Amino acid sequence: MAKVLVIGAGFAGHTAALYLGDKLGNQHEVTVMSNRDMFSYIPSWIWVGVGHMKPEQTVFKLKPVYDRMGIKFVHAAVKEIHPDAGDQFVIGEEIETKNEVRLTYDYLVVATGPKLNFAGTPGLGPDGGYTHSICSLPHVVKTRDAYFAAIEKMKKGEKVRMVFGTGHPGATCQGAAFEYIENVHKDLVKKGLRDKADLLWISNERALGDFGVRGIQAKYGGKPMSSEDFISAVFKDHGIRSQVQTGVTSVDEKKIYWENYEGEKGETEYDFAMLIPQFTGQPVKYIGKNGEDVSEKVVNKPGFVLVDGIYGLTYDVLERNPDAWPSAYQNPTYQNIFAAGIAFAPPGPISKPHTNKNGMVIAAAPPRTGMVSGVIGRVAALNIVDLITKGRMTHHERMSEMVAACIASMGDSLWDGSAAVMVLYPVVPDVKRFPTESGRDSFVSHMEMGISGAWMKFMLHHTFIWKFKAKPGWKIIPE
Ligand SMILES: Cc1cc2nc3c(=O)[nH]c(=O)nc-3n(C[C@H](O)[C@H](O)[C@H](O)COP(=O)(O)OP(=O)(O)OC[C@H]3O[C@@H](n4cnc5c(N)ncnc54)[C@H](O)[C@@H]3O)c2cc1C
Repeated sequence: MAKVLVIGAGFAGHTAALYLGDKLGNQHEVTVMSNRDMFSYIPSWIWVGVGHMKPEQTVFKLKPVYDRMGIKFVHAAVKEIHPDAGDQFVIGEEIETKNEVRLTYDYLVVATGPKLNFAGTPGLGPDGGYTHSICSLPHVVKTRDAYFAAIEKMKKGEKVRMVFGTGHPGATCQGAAFEYIENVHKDLVKKGLRDKADLLWISNERALGDFGVRGIQAKYGGKPMSSEDFISAVFKDHGIRSQVQTGVTSVDEKKIYWENYEGEKGETEYDFAMLIPQFTGQPVKYIGKNGEDVSEKVVNKPGFVLVDGIYGLTYDVLERNPDAWPSAYQNPTYQNIFAAGIAFAPPGPISKPHTNKNGMVIAAAPPRTGMVSGVIGRVAALNIVDLITKGRMTHHERMSEMVAACIASMGDSLWDGSAAVMVLYPVVPDVKRFPTESGRDSFVSHMEMGISGAWMKFMLHHTFIWKFKAKPGWKIIPE
């Protein structure tokens, strides 16, 4: 009987656990260790942040789902991983009791998502800093309350300066910040307060609509259009000012300090700011047989797990090598360790980084969105199933082979809401297969905006929660 341990139960880990439970059932032991006992449907938090959805509508308890699937659940935070062969185990701290828990494994899936590195930008973040975040549920609830307080000021006639975007030169997740600024815009229009708010988008993207994926070239209304033109038109229409090519360096109570591509330093005054922090890997220790630190064999400097990608290539080389992106998500040194979702180390950025004259690297890090994380979770799980049942892996899917659909909400109402639907194939441009400027399939890659997107986003919330609860038919709903 093989023991498979998944750490983390987000989009990647929970998806992996469902496939492992389904395929390995009672013949093998599947365990999930996670520091949260709830699954969070994160994409709907942008609605929690404007008070249009209750926080509890975005979460559900994991244990009842795992009980049905014969998966053990341990509510603990992973502290150490001891990966040496013959004696492989994970040490965690139980959340309720603070007791140490030690679990042995034959196969391990690391799916612990991002550490929100607010400390990477002095003054950033809601815990001890001055800005807000939508990257955890407690944060988004705080953000909503601060937004409500801003609305009260506007009702009294005060003008409020609101800033949204990225709070670090190397941040990712621009898509979530874009959704939030658009939902705030729409909410303020509905409340008749839009003229009382100045909305500014500040980000490390090379251009508007880059989203860390080198933007999208697609057909919109039958005509070729870039996501830069598309998002520029949306912001112009909505009266949102923008400042890209900017790395936020610090924040204080009144100002956001930044540097741009030209190396100019500047500051922006604000009353309310929601800025996405840098993401790093979770601070887990990797310890060898003799107590030595073996982290270098498992994780890169920021703490993301090294898998079967080609690391260390310059951007120019990586840009022309789609095969440098990992396909099986297996650590080369410890081949029974897999990593999925944000926890795996990408070989480099998708969008071209820029180093300014002061030596600051401004680079939108590659997003590993929910869909991509779920696909990778499935691939890692099915490879483990393969290794247990056949002795060889048969599942491979690089981000340079993956399709991704992103539905960016721009107001949740099913009457007059909207969403930008963006489909990109592949996620990482492949200039070998698609020798165009964009490196993507122009037939599949697509952008659309309208009320049907709002309906789709609403339906996705319910469909995915159904899937993640492993209700009948969950497997036929794609990741
Ligand atoms: C506001 C917002 C909106 C978004 N909207 C979209 C969208 O519309 N579409 C889309 O595709 N993507 C969206 N994303 C991105 C998406 O949420 C992420 O890509 C996805 O959550 C990544 O999945 P993951 O499993 O890697 O990490 P997570 O979902 O963060 O899961 C990590 C898991 O690891 C656990 N964990 C962490 N540390 C430990 C530890 N030490 N021990 C044990 N467990 C641990 C956590 O509790 C969690 O269960 C959005 C993100 C945000 C913030």
